[in-house]
Amino acid sequence: MQGITILGATGSIGASTLDVVARHPDRYRVYALSAHARVEELAAACRQFRPQRAVVGSPEAAARLAALIADLPTSVEYGEAALCDIASSADTDIVMAAIVGAAGLAPTLAAARAGKKILLANKEALVMSGQLFMDAVREHKATLLPVDSEHNAIFQALPSSYGRVPGACGVAKILLTASGGPFLNRAVETLGSVTPDEACKHPNWVMGRKISVDSATMMNKGLEVIEAHWLFGAPADQIDVVIHPQSVIHSMVSYVDGSVLAQLGNPDMRTPIANALAYPDRIDSGVAQLDLTQMAALQFFAPDFERFPCLALAFDALRAGGTAPALLNAANEVAVQAFLERRIGFRDIDRVIRHALDVVPHGPAPSIEAVLDQDARARAAANDAVSTIASGLQR
Ligand code: NAD
Ligand code: MG
Repeated sequence: MQGITILGATGSIGASTLDVVARHPDRYRVYALSAHARVEELAAACRQFRPQRAVVGSPEAAARLAALIADLPTSVEYGEAALCDIASSADTDIVMAAIVGAAGLAPTLAAARAGKKILLANKEALVMSGQLFMDAVREHKATLLPVDSEHNAIFQALPSSYGRVPGACGVAKILLTASGGPFLNRAVETLGSVTPDEACKHPNWVMGRKISVDSATMMNKGLEVIEAHWLFGAPADQIDVVIHPQSVIHSMVSYVDGSVLAQLGNPDMRTPIANALAYPDRIDSGVAQLDLTQMAALQFFAPDFERFPCLALAFDALRAGGTAPALLNAANEVAVQAFLERRIGFRDIDRVIRHALDVVPHGPAPSIEAVLDQDARARAAANDAVSTIASGLQR
């Protein structure tokens, strides 16, 4: 029986994880759950899974949760230190890192430093702190398993000796597939006026609002290129993005002998979650088997970097290295939030990020403190750009 902590239990990934865990009560026991503000949903999950600990974002939320589950033995805590504690406790074996954004960095890093088996959905944590995070994983003998569907597909298509036998695996390219999101074929001139709800209407996946907007700008794919770089040790030139609107092939690895290995499946995050949870075993995820005879044609084409400037910005940040990906990520979080609050338009997102990257010089990333300092500077610069754009829009 393995203990699991789910960071971000009320989110889209958190709910899918609980769905898979509930199918295997003989294998997994829920040790701790966290949520930021959705207290009622967390209370319902506590009632169903009876964790020892539950962590929320504020004392107010903790008081509300404690009142809702007063009859349960679950202890209620709040704040970042408590998140780090449930991620590193000796009572948990597995940590699902499914908080959205930079807020997930500290607890995910705590899990790495405690040598846990980490199921990584929170790509922003790895994008921000790449080298430092991977060093912590190696130093503390943590196990890092990708949950992002593309990275989980690549993980499945790589040989198990990958990374242990340098140069022997014959990998030529990592082919990261992308649906292209809701605006793949929309006239570029109309993108300025799209609404948050339109941007969040993904053709194939149901996800949280931040990653949905990232998918619409293709910044999500950009963050995933950086994520793939760190997870698989691949330089930017070895990672190709391929648009595949049907989201049936979740990514591929192409080898020097001409072979291309792909992982296919219905677009449902419970498949990569179950894969990472049980690895190297396979367990039922609740996802229907793929029926190839019912499939329309599968299409593939190259991305349009002019339609999706955020993808180009991410490749540039990866090539620049150091704190550049952390700056990109922080500015993107501010820009997406401002777009969701209707303070800026969709086409302003890449403008805000570019502004932050222009005014905050990137440098080496020797420590988490240096990364967080750069993160704060990028947020300040991005907020300035948002204010300027927002006041212009009001006039
Ligand atoms: P979501 O918005 O549905 O859920 C986010 C979770 O994080 C919630 O439980 C929320 O309570 C918690 N949270 C939010 N802000 C917080 C804060 N400041 N401190 C602590 N907790 C906080 O997001 P999601 O779609 O489940 O995505 C979660 C992560 O997984 C993201 O990093 C995303 O990029 C990644 N991911 C998601 C999908 C998907 O299909 N949803 C696929 C691949 C990767
Ligand atoms: Mg993905």
